[in-house]
Amino acid sequence: MSAETKELLDKAIGVVCTQAKLDPKSSVAIDDMQARPSLPLQSPEAREGAERAQRLLPVAKDLVITALHQLQTDYGFQNQPKFNQRMRQAIARVNSVSRVRPDMESRDNASVYLSRPHVITFGTIFLAGLRSDEGMLSVLAHELTHIADGDNDGLRLLVAAVGNKASDLTGLDIHGQRAEEISCDLIGAMVVRTYIVTTPGYESITRRLARSIQHNCVELDEGDEDHLSPRNTIRALLALNPALVRELLNDRFE
Ligand SMILES: [Zn+2]
Repeated sequence: MSAETKELLDKAIGVVCTQAKLDPKSSVAIDDMQARPSLPLQSPEAREGAERAQRLLPVAKDLVITALHQLQTDYGFQNQPKFNQRMRQAIARVNSVSRVRPDMESRDNASVYLSRPHVITFGTIFLAGLRSDEGMLSVLAHELTHIADGDNDGLRLLVAAVGNKASDLTGLDIHGQRAEEISCDLIGAMVVRTYIVTTPGYESITRRLARSIQHNCVELDEGDEDHLSPRNTIRALLALNPALVRELLNDRFE
């Protein structure tokens, strides 16, 4: 990355995490969610979040499929019969998801059990912490991308290509499961962008775009073998998506 690109990227991170403080519908940061007590299923915030997630699920499915096709083209896999076959299976898996299941025990996580691929299990703290349609869509899209990849890692070529590019751009080690996680986040950000383009409103574009990644604006920045740290996740996502950097900074779509 050039010094100029890096400077713009740092500014964009600043914008995302400033919006996290200013926006009344901003997504709660992951470390903040982790520190909260468990939230009963029947609490108003959890119920509101569960309704939001279920309402947005059909939109998320459509937009994930669009984003997968976009990435297939962007990463040069468009004319490969074997990849096309895997894409068809991935899309069928996404289309078969029918339900979000709120779960108190899952706390600040969302997950997919590949033995029950029609259901996304969503912790109540997470449901309550994603306070906007944009924030919720980004996480739904993330989980749907895991489902698309499936238990046979059907999208492994694409996932590896995204991880390699992110590693090259940032100097971070983004391979294996980390590559899958960043691919899921990248699709999340792409889905939210398309959603905003198609649902214009009075809120600023910057504010709405920021919601797709701002749950990563943590104070306590810890990763593990399978996940980049949240702040490195923002960095890698923006490095992969320079148009998003410009759009966040300019408050308009290109
Ligand atoms: Zn994940």
